[in-house]
Amino acid sequence: MSVAAETAESIIMGLHSGSRRALSRSLSLIESTLEADRDVAFAVLERCASASSMTWRIGCTGPPGVGKSTFIEQLGMQLTDIGRRVAVLAVDPSSRRTGGSILGDKVRMPRLSQRPQAYIRPTPSKAVLGGAAPSTRDAVLLCEEAGFDTIIIETVGVGQSEVEVAGMVDMFLLLALPNSGDDVQGIKRGIMESAHTIIVTKADIDQAAAHRAVATLTGALRYMHAPLDDWTTAVVPASSLSSEGFDVVISSISEFFAPSRRQSIETHRQLQRGEWFDSVLTAELLHRLLSQPAIRSAGDLAREQCIRGQVAPSLSVHRLLGRIQLTITEDA
Ligand code: GDP
Repeated sequence: MSVAAETAESIIMGLHSGSRRALSRSLSLIESTLEADRDVAFAVLERCASASSMTWRIGCTGPPGVGKSTFIEQLGMQLTDIGRRVAVLAVDPSSRRTGGSILGDKVRMPRLSQRPQAYIRPTPSKAVLGGAAPSTRDAVLLCEEAGFDTIIIETVGVGQSEVEVAGMVDMFLLLALPNSGDDVQGIKRGIMESAHTIIVTKADIDQAAAHRAVATLTGALRYMHAPLDDWTTAVVPASSLSSEGFDVVISSISEFFAPSRRQSIETHRQLQRGEWFDSVLTAELLHRLLSQPAIRSAGDLAREQCIRGQVAPSLSVHRLLGRIQLTITEDA
């Protein structure tokens, strides 16, 4: 057995025995850009059970300060109370720019992280090939392999992360501020249309404002596309401090994952896996091609000619690709 296979075997055993260290280690490996780490990561993924659609994958998005962390902690506590095992992951597009976590070493969700039935990934993923999404998708599989039946993915920071998160979860929760009643324009239409439940946060501060926001958002939804044919998006006022509204949030989640909706969830996951394959293939192919020195220098030269206006870029790329030989071997 190779070293990678041996290490992977011990990580898998750790995952199955409920070791958090093994889970953290496997998550670091899939985020690593080192070739040796990636070999182990792939060996771990190879040993993971085939996909199960029995888990709950929930995305949570909203502007910074809306109360996502506080909400997820409260939700996680309530879900563990009813017997679910909850893992919380984060997608952080801004970390790509800074090269590290914007949250630093702050302990995230301190109360939830103390529960044995919960696992909080301490820091969001760093820059990886093809963005944060591919490694987060693998992270979901690893958490499921470790026995977590509920995976909550939080968007941290600002950017395009909502789209990435929507591509990897079953149910998408949008958190809105209680003053969004005055400014629905502030919420992007596409995000509202992909939300399965909208939560108006901090309802304890000003009940009247929260109810105004609920009415305005509910009204706006009437003019938008529903995310699914068999689902109506509800707008729920909630407070993560007093737990008000969480009974409605939990019943909305339970209803979404009811046995009657399993087939619909599985069909959606099949689509997501196809898109996942496409995005990883595109990113990896590009990376591999452009890391070949000969292709790189020919590309640089061709690009220079385009910049000087000597050749049209479409023609230049067409010629360049004509010079690249691609072959494939028989299935490994
Ligand atoms: P995030 O940036 O979206 O993750 O927001 P946080 O969860 O960090 O919350 C931002 C601020 O809002 C913090 O000071 C929280 O204590 C506060 N907050 C979050 N939820 C509630 C709530 O339900 N009620 C009140 N009054 N404050 C809240």
